[in-house]
Amino acid sequence: MTKPLIVITGASSGIGAATARLFCAQGHPLLLLARRRERLEELALPDTLCRRVDVTDRAAVEEAVREAEERFGPADAIVNNAGVMLLGRVADQPVDEWDRMIDLNIKGVLYGTRAVLPGMLTRGTGTVINISSVAGRKTFPDHAAYVATKFAVHALSENLREEVAATGVRVVTIAPGAVETELLSHTSDEQIKSDYEAWKKSAGGALDPRTVAEAVVYAYQQPRNVTVREIVLAATGQE
Ligand code: NDP
Repeated sequence: MTKPLIVITGASSGIGAATARLFCAQGHPLLLLARRRERLEELALPDTLCRRVDVTDRAAVEEAVREAEERFGPADAIVNNAGVMLLGRVADQPVDEWDRMIDLNIKGVLYGTRAVLPGMLTRGTGTVINISSVAGRKTFPDHAAYVATKFAVHALSENLREEVAATGVRVVTIAPGAVETELLSHTSDEQIKSDYEAWKKSAGGALDPRTVAEAVVYAYQQPRNVTVREIVLAATGQE
């Protein structure tokens, strides 16, 4: 039987790319979104539509989902994974970094969800999987704006889960600790960046992105009458 379409945002590196590989290996057609389309193409996954989409552009997200659904049928899941972590102090972090995180980490999750949710509600099935963070559960030094966005992902996900619980649509939050990806590279404050690297080492290293991808696939593959509401996973040495 043909497997249904899965949409993954931020699939050009890290957790999103690892998740794309695993779902593809399970036989799912995919819609992969990111700004670096060439990195999506380099994954070279069969039955996959790669689109250069900035997920803060709601119309572009909707258009890509429409195109993928025409080709592969209705989206059965979305993994709202695209995100950016720009660490900084409230007193001096460039304010445009707050705006970028809020636009992508919060509004991007809402836009991705809105693009697939009406169809899922009509069909009475579907899974929304939002990638939050341990930083959506507890705070860390120099993380104020980032933790605000990730606490928001937990909050909106749980509220949505309650909103749609009776419809058959599932909402899952995945909250990883430190993962070895490109995420830290975008932080502009070099001192904060090296402090974070030192913290990661002292915590015994970071997770492999594949481990997080396996948690995503685990949650999705549960029977439809089971919702894994939240998975929090981190390196054993992370406090
Ligand atoms: P990466 O930086 O490796 O991946 C981020 C992905 O998001 C890339 O594919 C990037 O693609 C995409 N992206 C960034 N901006 C946009 C945009 N405006 N529109 C569309 N796509 C965008 O980091 P991770 O894999 O680590 O991050 C994935 C998620 O996991 C994030 O939400 C992050 O907050 C979360 N997370 C990560 C942790 C970690 O320690 N690494 C820990 C906990 C949570 P492109 O640049 O091509 O657009």
